[in-house]
Amino acid sequence: MTTHSVEAFRQKNVLLGGEWQENEQGNRITLDSPSSGENIGSVPALNKAEVDKAVEAARGAQKQWQKTPLHERKQLLLRWADKLEENKEAIGTVIMQEVAKKKSSAVDEVVRTADFIRHTAEEGVRINGELLTGDSYNGGPAGKTAQVSRVPLGVVLAIAPFNYPLNLSASKIAPALMTGNSVIFKPATQGSLSGIMMMETLEEAGLPKGLVNVTTGRGSEIGDVLVTHDGIDQISFTGGSGTGISMAEKAGMVPMVLELGGKDPAIVLEDADLDKAAKEITGGAFSYSGQRCTAIKRVLVKEEAADELVAKLKEKVEALSVGKPEDDADITPLINDKGADYLQGLIDDTIADGAEVVTENKRDGRQFSPVLFDHVSTESRIAWEEPFGPVLPVIRVKDEDEAVKIANDSEYGLQASVFTQDINTAHRIADELEVGSVQVNGKTSRGPDHFPFLGVKNSGMGVQGVRYSLLSYTREKVTVINQ
Ligand code: NAP
Repeated sequence: MTTHSVEAFRQKNVLLGGEWQENEQGNRITLDSPSSGENIGSVPALNKAEVDKAVEAARGAQKQWQKTPLHERKQLLLRWADKLEENKEAIGTVIMQEVAKKKSSAVDEVVRTADFIRHTAEEGVRINGELLTGDSYNGGPAGKTAQVSRVPLGVVLAIAPFNYPLNLSASKIAPALMTGNSVIFKPATQGSLSGIMMMETLEEAGLPKGLVNVTTGRGSEIGDVLVTHDGIDQISFTGGSGTGISMAEKAGMVPMVLELGGKDPAIVLEDADLDKAAKEITGGAFSYSGQRCTAIKRVLVKEEAADELVAKLKEKVEALSVGKPEDDADITPLINDKGADYLQGLIDDTIADGAEVVTENKRDGRQFSPVLFDHVSTESRIAWEEPFGPVLPVIRVKDEDEAVKIANDSEYGLQASVFTQDINTAHRIADELEVGSVQVNGKTSRGPDHFPFLGVKNSGMGVQGVRYSLLSYTREKVTVINQ
C-alpha cells in the first residue's frame, strides 16, 4: 500500500476528468508557510476552459454514478477513509505546514475526517424515500399513491475554507458522493496541498474517472466562473459571511448550503462552576489561535462573577504556549498578513476605547500572544466583529436579559454557550438565543459530526451533520400512481 512522503507531494497538479493535470498555460500559485515563510509547494491556477472541462467530466460521470448501488458507493468511501488514515502523518504534516495548525491538531483532523467519511458511508445506506396515499388528507381522492424517492442533485460545487482544509472539504464531498452526486472541489488556496493529497487517497481508493474534479485557483479569480457555471446543480460553501452572501446573490436559483462566520458568545452566570467555565472558554476561544468559526468570540459575564472569572481566565490564557506549529504550540502564527493586520486594528481600537488589557499584548509579524480584554464596551468593534485570531473580549452585564440582548444584537447566529448550574435557567436562555446551537456548560464547537450543525442570520443557510448533510445533497422525486 502506498504511503506518501511529504516531500514528494509538494508540487501538485489537479484531477480533471480522471487525469492528474497541469493547467494549459503552466500558471501556478506558489504557497508559503504562514509560519516559516518558506515555499512549501504550488498548485495550478485554472482558467475558464479548464473549469468547463471539469464540469463536463463531472456531468458525464454523475449519470453512471447515480445508478451505482449504495453498497458499492459505501465501499468506495470506506476504502477512502482507510487510505486517508494510513497517511495521517504525511497529510497532517502538510496541513501543519500550509495553515500553521499545531501538529497534533493537524493529525487529529485527518483522523476525524476519516471517521466522518466512515460514518457517512454507514448512514448513507439508510437514506430512503416514502410512500404516501392520496386519501389521507382532507378527503382527497382515493386511488392515488405517491412514491417519494430521494434523488441526487447532480453536480455539487464544494468550496472549502483554509482553517479545516480536510474536514470541511470531506464533509461536503463524502455525503455528496454517497447520495449519487459528482463533485467539483475548490479547496481554499492555502489548504489546497493537503486537499489535493486527500483527493489522491480517494483516487487510490478507486474513484471512478471524472466523478470528483479538483479546481484550484484564487477564489477572487475563478470563484465567479465556478459559482455562475450553468453546469452546477448545488453549491456547498464554508467560509466568510461576506463571500457567502455575495456568492448567493450571483448563484440565482441554484440551491446552496452555507456555513459562514460567527461571533459566538459565552454567557456566564453567577452560579456557574467558574473553573469549568474558564477551562471551556479558554479552549473554545483560543484553539487553532482563534481561527475557528465556532470559536468563543466574546464573554458576557454577570458582574457578580466577573472578577473571579477574569482571574481564572487570565491564569489559563497565560498558560497557553506561543510558537511554532511543529513544536505543537497552542498559539501559532495567523494564516496571512491581512488577517494579522485586521486583528491588530481590532486590538488597537479596543485599547483606545478604554478596555483593560489583562494579559500580555505582543506581536511579532503574524505571531500574536493571546490577548484577554476586560471591561469591553459594546461600543467597541470587537464586541461585534469576528477577529479570527487569539483575542477574547469580556463584556460585563447586569443581568441575563442584557446578556441575551447583546448576544442577539449580532449579525451572526452560529452557536452560543451558557454556563449555569440551573438547568431551567439554561433552557430559558437557550430558548431566547438566536443561534443554530446552544451549548450548556461547554464550549461552542462543531462536533460530534452527526449532530446537526447550522447557523442562522449571517452565519449560514441549510444544515450539516452526517445525516443532515446526506439529505441536503438530495431532493424529493415524486411519482404518482393513479389507479
Ligand atoms: P473565505 O475567504 O470566504 O474563503 C473560503 C473559500 O472561498 C476559499 O476556498 C476561497 O478561495 C473561496 N473564495 C473566495 N472568494 C471567492 C469567490 N468570490 N467566489 C468563490 N469562492 C471564493 O474564508 P476563509 O478565510 O477561508 O475562512 C474563514 C471564514 O470562514 C471565517 O469567516 C469563518 O468564520 C468561516 N468559517 C465558517 C465555518 C462554519 O462552519 N460556519 C467553518 C469554518 C470557517 P481562496 O482560498 O482561493 O481565496
